[in-house]
Amino acid sequence: PELFEPERPNSVGFDLTDLPTLERLDAARAPFRNALWHATPLIAGKARPETAQPVDNPFLPKDSPGTVAQASAADIEAALSAATPWEASSQDRGNVLARAADLFEANYGEFFALLTREAGKTPLDAVAELREAVDFLRYYGANAPSITPAGVFTCISPWNFPLAIFSGQVSAALAAGNAVLAKPADQTPLIAHRAVELMHEAGVPFTALQLLPGAGTTVGAALTSDARINGVAFTGSTATAKRIRTAMADHLAPGAPLIAETGGLNAMIVDSTALPEQAVTAIIESAFQSAGQRCSALRCLYVQEDIADGLLDMLQGAMKELTLDDPWELSTDCGPVIDQKAQSGIAGHIAIAQAEGRVLYQLTTPQSGTFIAPTLIRVKGIADLEQEIFGPVLHVATFKANELDAVIDAINDTGYGLTFGLQTRIDDRVQHVSDRVHAGNIYVNRNQIGAIVGCQPFGGEGLSGTGPKAGGPNYLARFSATASQTSSA
Ligand code: GLU
Repeated sequence: PELFEPERPNSVGFDLTDLPTLERLDAARAPFRNALWHATPLIAGKARPETAQPVDNPFLPKDSPGTVAQASAADIEAALSAATPWEASSQDRGNVLARAADLFEANYGEFFALLTREAGKTPLDAVAELREAVDFLRYYGANAPSITPAGVFTCISPWNFPLAIFSGQVSAALAAGNAVLAKPADQTPLIAHRAVELMHEAGVPFTALQLLPGAGTTVGAALTSDARINGVAFTGSTATAKRIRTAMADHLAPGAPLIAETGGLNAMIVDSTALPEQAVTAIIESAFQSAGQRCSALRCLYVQEDIADGLLDMLQGAMKELTLDDPWELSTDCGPVIDQKAQSGIAGHIAIAQAEGRVLYQLTTPQSGTFIAPTLIRVKGIADLEQEIFGPVLHVATFKANELDAVIDAINDTGYGLTFGLQTRIDDRVQHVSDRVHAGNIYVNRNQIGAIVGCQPFGGEGLSGTGPKAGGPNYLARFSATASQTSSA
């Protein structure tokens, strides 16, 4: 399959440097500043208004954007009985998904408000996320295969891309003709509910797409351990992916595919020939955009010793310019992390480094909201990172000119392999390093986040995921019956 289809351009999004565009965006989301949404299970198109509980706003605890009713065991059973693969030609499925993309774009003001109030996204992040969601719908729709669907697919999505990854998983499974049972992240059911409503409005049959909000331990566990499920798409932690794999092995058919995108301990190497301004911009974006809550985010920076002092000074200067504030504000660069549990976990990690005298630099933390101020922590090497710290915390190590290969070995030895960044002006080094580093997405002389659907298929190896890469030509084949019969497909 071709990677580029000129007749299917990606969404252009919004140019946030253009004042009239900013005003338009601001006006479009204004009516939703105080709106309330309600997420419920959607079983064969019917809402199940059970006991609802409030959904949190990570910045303003008092501003709950709405309520969610969790799916009960009876809802799960009803959804499983109603689930019916989508019987339409691949072209018709593609057209419906393209129509859903148009509806997503038409409702951008509402989505931007939801992304900020439910997930703490800044306008920049919200724009990027809507673009990616729209691109997934159109890309998978345009490539909808005429293969036999696997049957019923469970899609379990994360809160860090509550619209893009949710819609990506769901639209891939639907493009292949499956019936989908979608379980959104606990923290972000409202965005998922709205996305499903629009997909239904576009023409996805009610029995082909059902929504089951709830916790991983209850709804997620039930949806990965029922013999009527034919495959699972999951994005989240490596530990949860392992639990899902075990549950599937115990309860599902042996060949049922698991498509998992998990964590990363992503590194960037900056050698002494790198352009400092370019490197600093790439580091700031990779480590602190989305408050570091991307699985692609930079976690460990290796700077060649000779330039380390100058580069780290410059980096701190650039960090000082970051605005930490209400994510609704157009001037905010870094919003809150998703919830108090995340905040206290990350703060605990920083406190240990602080006690050991390894905090190089930290911005001031705002008073309200679940913020973690962007922080630099000194480490000897990536081996010091025991686990992925999912927030705006960057670990920094230095290396000597003759230690490059040892650094690459250390990066590979983590067992993860998601993104990797390299800043250098030596052509041969680009080849040398990218031949050796084990990472799904390698970025040279730019940031290492924000893979573009259809151009930069995204996904890792080792502990970072099963593949195939999302937004790439091999993804949809895993959602077919052939995939579930041959586990190596
Ligand atoms: N695809 C996103 C990126 O390239 C990251 C996805 C994730 O965080 O799960 O930045």
